[in-house]
Amino acid sequence: MPSRARLTIDLAAVSDNWRSLRDRAAHGRCAGVVKADGYGLGADRVGKALKEAGCRQFFVAQTDEAVALRRALPEAEIFVLGGLLAEDLPEFQEFSLTPVLNDPGQVLLWLAAGNGRPAALHVDTGMNRLGLRMREMLDLLEDPAIRQGPWRLLLSHLACADEPDHPLNDRQRADFSLLRARLPQVPASLANSSGIFLGEGWHGDLLRPGIALYGGNPTPGRPNPMKPTVRVQVPVLQVRQADAGETVGYAAAHVTTRPTRIATVSYGYADGYIRAASGKGAGWLDGHKLPVLGRISMDLMTLDATDVPEGLLHPGTLIDLIGPDRSLDEAAADAGTIPYELLTNLGRRAERIYRV
Ligand SMILES: *Cc1c(COP(=O)(O)O)cnc(C)c1O
Repeated sequence: MPSRARLTIDLAAVSDNWRSLRDRAAHGRCAGVVKADGYGLGADRVGKALKEAGCRQFFVAQTDEAVALRRALPEAEIFVLGGLLAEDLPEFQEFSLTPVLNDPGQVLLWLAAGNGRPAALHVDTGMNRLGLRMREMLDLLEDPAIRQGPWRLLLSHLACADEPDHPLNDRQRADFSLLRARLPQVPASLANSSGIFLGEGWHGDLLRPGIALYGGNPTPGRPNPMKPTVRVQVPVLQVRQADAGETVGYAAAHVTTRPTRIATVSYGYADGYIRAASGKGAGWLDGHKLPVLGRISMDLMTLDATDVPEGLLHPGTLIDLIGPDRSLDEAAADAGTIPYELLTNLGRRAERIYRV
């Protein structure tokens, strides 16, 4: 009898998703974003699967992630989005990592200490998070030594790509185009998953999808063009019957309004089911919805199984949080969050099963 949640990851579907995005690319090139341990699915396994599919460029957030990924992908180009911190220089050299330079200091540091190895330039066009400011970039480009630096990629990141009508998309593209014209020999990359679907005008030379590889819908509000890649199943530990008017869970946040069958499952916020899903999320069993009752605990949560037919539910029964009855995007919406947050947390304590 399983006592642990099960995360089943369809690597073939991840690869199919990558190929379908690459086929859309205006210039045929598509990277894979595998930060946060491949959005929680295992950066090494996802990375190897993408490599088999033909992916050659990978993005992670942190130097440690890049070092770990290097072991799985000895040949790949690994970009570190977090930038170049001076104390990480030895790792960048030893593991042939490619920094994404985020401010003028990092640019100068790499020119001085990068041994001529390639780096990416990140210019901010609307996030105000990381990246050189437009002005800083234009000033740097006054210097011919900087214009002729070892630049592998010019990149920027879209703030509102999942809202196709948002005026910022056009503004960011226009600013980015202006810089591309100043560095015509350097490949450019602007589009995350949703950016790919804004149209070829946003593609540049290299696509940078993350969530769409993992089956998240890059076109919210429209049908999902991606294949699902994950199933999350959580085991029932106990089934109990409560009368109307009883309390359930911490803070007695739920009071039953009818005789209620409660399924207690081995899954809680320490497993990555965010506590904010208390009273909102749901499990699914053979098409039946089992709403979360009351607060989510650290290791447990309680589901309303009253409407599940007798005989379907026992200790050990696996309830889907994400699966045939509920997509990643729907499950995230139920829980009051976005697919990114749900996905990057869900696998923390789960048994991972890979399908290839
Ligand atoms: C996370 C990230 C991506 C991937 O974004 P998705 O929306 O998951 O496709 C691309 N570029 C940068 C800079 C990122 O931080």
